[in-house]
Amino acid sequence: ARAARLDAPLTPGALSDGTPVPLLANLGSADAATAALAAGAEGVGLFRTEFLFLEAATAPTVAEQQAEYTRLLQAFNGKKVVVRVLDAGADKPLAFLDAGDHEDNPALGLRGIRALRAHEQILRDQLSALAAADAETDADLWVMAPMVATVEEAEYFTSLAHEAGIRVAGVMVEVPSAALLADRILPTTDFASIGTNDLTQYTLAADRLLGSVAALQSPWNPAVLRLIAEVGQAGRALGKPVGICGEAAADPLLAVVLVGLGATTLSMSPAAIADVRASLLRFDAEQAAALAAVALAANSPAQSHDAARAFAAAIR
Ligand code: PEP
Ligand code: MG
Repeated sequence: ARAARLDAPLTPGALSDGTPVPLLANLGSADAATAALAAGAEGVGLFRTEFLFLEAATAPTVAEQQAEYTRLLQAFNGKKVVVRVLDAGADKPLAFLDAGDHEDNPALGLRGIRALRAHEQILRDQLSALAAADAETDADLWVMAPMVATVEEAEYFTSLAHEAGIRVAGVMVEVPSAALLADRILPTTDFASIGTNDLTQYTLAADRLLGSVAALQSPWNPAVLRLIAEVGQAGRALGKPVGICGEAAADPLLAVVLVGLGATTLSMSPAAIADVRASLLRFDAEQAAALAAVALAANSPAQSHDAARAFAAAIR
């Protein structure tokens, strides 16, 4: 079955009733573009810019950044590319975006949009470099901020990005407060993208880097699914796109649950795209919603996963 799937034409992601679910790639460098396209990526749903600058002792210049972003956008000519501005701090430390104060809990510290706000020129330079790269290429560039926790942060980033010439500016939803207030945050911005890695970490209060609490780090947890449902409902009500870019989107059955909860696109490591595409084709929109309801109704990640598997087996 695997060989047959690899030989099959790379059709766009969709449910069995034709509902499109674009399948996008999570990337950390423009060099990974060729492999992502070969794997069937319809664009990029999360470009992690911090990996370009992990070794840098000083902030990269606008020209240096523009060259990298241009290379990325050229590789995805005519396709959607969602770039995340620098997510420094916690698991992604950057020397030139240091928190300053010693932090006992860096995951709860000055990271993501908080660190960029404290060094606003770095954010302004990155947005200028992205806008300049967009102007010289033909990809559909969207730009989003990591670790947004409040309505005010969403407003701040969206207006700064628009002023810098970014046409489509959105926020990541990876802090529970942002999911809970999705109906207030989405009106202030162009789109949301749910980062299930951090959303799970913060919902369960379980450090994503710590093996001793790894058992708590399941995106099948109904508490995490309920937060995702909040965002999906707000997105549908307001007509705003809601993507998923955490690892959860790479799980073929969970991917269908996420679509049932209201996700409009899924972004994942390119290697996962073929299996997720095949899984989506087994369900129509009504079945995906019913599957999501079954997963949400469980008491634990294991029960949620088991119930979803049983439901999927029964409708096949
Ligand atoms: C996430 O948190 O789910 C996410 C996609 O971002 P990162 O893994 O880079 O923190
Ligand atoms: Mg994250």
